[in-house]
Amino acid sequence: MSVKHIAWPDKILQEPFTREKEHFVANLLSWFEEHGRDLPWRQTRDPYKILVSELMLQQTQVSRILEYYPRFLEKFPDFATLAHATEEEVIAAWEGLGYYNRARNFHKLAIEITEKYAGQFPRDKETILTLPGIGEYTAGAVLTFALGIRAPIVDTNVDRVISRVFLSQKDLRSFTTKGQKEKVLWIISEALLPEEHFWEFNQAIMDFGAMQCTAKPHCDTCPMKLACVYYKQHSITRFFKK
Ligand code: SF4
Repeated sequence: MSVKHIAWPDKILQEPFTREKEHFVANLLSWFEEHGRDLPWRQTRDPYKILVSELMLQQTQVSRILEYYPRFLEKFPDFATLAHATEEEVIAAWEGLGYYNRARNFHKLAIEITEKYAGQFPRDKETILTLPGIGEYTAGAVLTFALGIRAPIVDTNVDRVISRVFLSQKDLRSFTTKGQKEKVLWIISEALLPEEHFWEFNQAIMDFGAMQCTAKPHCDTCPMKLACVYYKQHSITRFFKK
């Protein structure tokens, strides 16, 4: 399925996208049931713990976070403890993860949550986006994974999966700016997100991008291949090369 004849961004969600959406969601959820990773931050709905994992995961491999995540939580188990620590103490606990602005911003965020919101993490996206170091992706992740509020996410993995499954080379070339492509990805991510099981869906699409539809995709074992634009285009290319 390709949306190549559809003008951006107004008509993205018309046929044939709507037809393919259900197939994609159903396949993704069953793939996740079988292959989804059992990660410690998936056992909690605490916004603080979810934020620790999400901020650590930015620019860092899961295997490294598995080591740092429990140690950080042991030292700073909640917003109040983190807010009362000094910046030096927070940076020391982050030592080795790099990108120290994440830690500095998280410290500021903890202070703001403690002082301005009486320790309660806000539940609306607009307010969440005003917090230090929080962008669209992290806001969507904390809404979905911690607060049980349906919200789309787009990170590198989601970008790769959506681009490959739903967008042709021609579509991708038609974007004249990075912002234009991002806008389309967010619209598609929102449209794919089910009314129920949105927690599973968002976890699943990230795992799928990290494990199946990787930079070098494992198309032969992929449940999406019959509907995947990238797979179809590459099969044709392979066929003509023979
Ligand atoms: S068929 Fe290949 S490119 Fe398409 S979703 Fe699956 S792994 Fe990714």
